[in-house]
Amino acid sequence: MAADVDQFRIPVPALTSFVTSIFAKAGCSPAESDRVARYLVAANLTGHDSHGVVRVPRYVDLIAEGAVVVDQTVAIPFENDSMAVVDGRMGLGQTVGPQAVELGIRKALASGVAVVALRNAGHIGRVGDWAEMAAAKGLISIHFVNGHGSVLVAPFGGAERRFSTAPFCVGVPRTGKPPVVLDFATSLVAEGKVLVASNGGKPVPPDAMIGPDGQLSGDPTTLYGPIEGTHRRDPRFGLGAIRAFGEHKGSGLALMCELLGGALTGNGTAGPLTEGPKDKVRRMRNGMLSVYLAPRFFGSAEEFEAATAVYLDFVKSSKPARAGGEVLVPGEPEQRQRADRTANGVPMPRTTWDSIVAAATKLGVPAPAL
Ligand code: NAD
Repeated sequence: MAADVDQFRIPVPALTSFVTSIFAKAGCSPAESDRVARYLVAANLTGHDSHGVVRVPRYVDLIAEGAVVVDQTVAIPFENDSMAVVDGRMGLGQTVGPQAVELGIRKALASGVAVVALRNAGHIGRVGDWAEMAAAKGLISIHFVNGHGSVLVAPFGGAERRFSTAPFCVGVPRTGKPPVVLDFATSLVAEGKVLVASNGGKPVPPDAMIGPDGQLSGDPTTLYGPIEGTHRRDPRFGLGAIRAFGEHKGSGLALMCELLGGALTGNGTAGPLTEGPKDKVRRMRNGMLSVYLAPRFFGSAEEFEAATAVYLDFVKSSKPARAGGEVLVPGEPEQRQRADRTANGVPMPRTTWDSIVAAATKLGVPAPAL
């Protein structure tokens, strides 16, 4: 396929150190530059290129515009033993996200359950990262996420944008094994997947979007408007919407992510935007309502593990629907991608690479020789 031809693999260390240098020049401390680069590359490693380094030019622009704050520390307007309200104060999501998760982990380990409402976080990227962070401490976690200022998705039955791509995520830990991590956008595709497709990466399904006339579309210009010959990928210029996944059920889950991740956290829902014309400059902020559960408080953590293992085997033992097929559990596709890409490098569409190099050049960061 023509779209896949102009693509190469870049080794993980070279990509990570290039992206780290870009964020350092953009104004982040060495620790933050390293952290943001590692999380973005980690998203590529799990196969979610939509949340990987393709985002670098956008993040750099947001830092330059002052729309996100480097090296931010969260504020905690309210907390008790089992809950906290955390204000990310528009810090980079890769910095304020882990601070909020850390708090939830600490409280759940002590109390058995914790609820953390994070508001005003810069883009928190792949939500599975936060479930994996909790799972590494033996905790189950559930995350309802929304994006205020990022209305992109049409509700079931609608042809106009009303939701953000509002991801939902659940992580279940397993001792000595990778956690089970269900992590998806409630839109038929994450916006970043349209971004990747617009850069010559994997195309999105032909019914992933809907035009204002109700016509289904897989063409990224439905979301971004004309893009031919430009690096501009801005949903404010498109007239269409991404569709919610799963008909009325996915649309309903998206609504709940907006209500819990947006309204309850104080982050604000995807719309309507009421903050005046200044906020019309793209100023996406993530809200995340997270629930953390420590299995040992529910009985025996060992029994939960054992029951989980037996059940996962039962699920995976289902006869494949197609000859040569296989039943996977959530998290397995990411583990396989991680193994392949760590060994063989991250696939990089030339257009994505060019847009990262353009952002780097503006900051005076030389691109690595490949
Ligand atoms: P997706 O459609 O690729 O679905 C991924 C989920 O489905 C994973 O849990 C994966 O393990 C599971 N899965 C995939 N194939 C499977 C199979 N064959 N069998 C069993 N399970 C399988 O994900 P997406 O909707 O494109 O979302 C991509 C990423 O974008 C997610 O990490 C999400 O958190 C992130 N996201 C973030 C934001 C934000 O505002 N920060 C917004 C939207 C999406």
